[in-house]
Order: sequence, then structure tokens, then C-alpha cells
Amino acid sequence: MAQWALPPNLHSEIEAGPVCFHSEHSIGSKDGLIPRYKDSHACVRCISALTEGRVSLDVHQIERKYRRRFLEFWSFVEIRGPDECWPWRGKYHSRSNSSYFQIPRHWGAGRQYSAPRMAVWTTWGDIGRLPIKPICGDHNCCNPLHWRIKGVPHFFHNRDLQVIDLEFCSNKLTADTQLFLETTADKDPQRFEKILNANRIWIDFRLNSDGPISFDLINTENGYKKLKK
Ligand SMILES: [Zn+2]
Ligand SMILES: [Zn+2]
Repeated sequence: MAQWALPPNLHSEIEAGPVCFHSEHSIGSKDGLIPRYKDSHACVRCISALTEGRVSLDVHQIERKYRRRFLEFWSFVEIRGPDECWPWRGKYHSRSNSSYFQIPRHWGAGRQYSAPRMAVWTTWGDIGRLPIKPICGDHNCCNPLHWRIKGVPHFFHNRDLQVIDLEFCSNKLTADTQLFLETTADKDPQRFEKILNANRIWIDFRLNSDGPISFDLINTENGYKKLKK
């Protein structure tokens, strides 16, 4: 997927746009709109958070209407240690081997975005279509600490603190997504069927596991592909 090219005079104009993923950012909005940059469509407050180096991974900080999609998305991420890469176990374009997740955004007709972009949106912030770059070299990695956002200053000083925080949050998120999968299987079989269709082996595995994920069989891409067949 080609990324959006940074224009000169990036972020020089602000306009009103729909709420972002982070529920705090719509507090005080009387008309249901929030400030967004006109060119990148990024949420102004998310860009401030990014500049300050804040990162979160918590369903309770996500705007209510996005919570289900948030949990669905993170159900397909193999959440590992804060220093490790987090493989995407959802859908891939078979030709390019690039990950994708379906979610409509207000600035265009496209409904598919790379999994890491969704990971960045829901952790660092709604950076709209700003280009992103992995520092680990894996373009499908979903560990937010492995991504940098281009075009804006990105404070990354308290890295150790973020790692500690992320460890706590990611353990909690693993439990949250587990509960989400169980509840959906129980209460909304049709939706669950759709989730299953994206990767039946992965979801079956998640539902049958107790405790943290450690699935040695699929730790290598080859092992994983073998399983998929
Ligand atoms: Zn925001
Ligand atoms: Zn990585």
C-alpha cells in the first residue's frame, strides 16, 4: 500500500472532523466534532499526545463506538513481550503479503488499512494518513513501540517507562480480547462466524488457551503457514 506523501507546510490548517478513537479527545465537544488537521486528517490532540510521547493500549480509553472494533482488531494480534515483534494473525493480501484490517475512515472511500496502521491509531493516536515506518523492519508488526510516525516530532524519551506500562496493558488486553471473543461466540454467532473466517486456527487456539499466549508452533512463519493449510 503506497503511503501518503508529506506535503510542504504540513499541518498548517485545522478543520472540524469526526471524533477520534480516543474518548478523552471528544470531551468538551458540544457538536460531536473535534479539531483535525486538514491535510493529514490527524486528530490535533492525538498529534499533541504523540509529540509528548504518550502511548496507551486500553479499551477503556477508546471511544465507545469504536470499542468493539478495537477488541476485534487486537484479537488478531499475537501480543508478546514489549520488546518483541507482535505478529498479525488476521487477514493478508496474498500477493503482497501485506496485512489489512477493514475499517472505514472519513477521508476516503478506502476501507482497508494495514494492521500496523490500526495498531498505531489505537495506541499512539489517530494520526490519520501520516506515513509510518517500522524500526524493526517488519512491515506487518503490530507492536506500537516498533513504529515511528513521519512528519511530526515524536518524543520517545521515557522508553523504559513505556515498556513497563505496555507490559501491564498488553496483559490486560489479552484478557479483554479473550472475553470479547467468548462473549461474541456466545451472544452474536453471525458476527463470530465472520471473525472465525479471517483465521479459524488462530481464534480456535485463542479460545482453547488458558492464560497468556505462547504458541510455539506458529512462532515461525513457516510453522504458521503449515498450520493454515
Ligand atoms: Zn485524538
Ligand atoms: Zn516489530
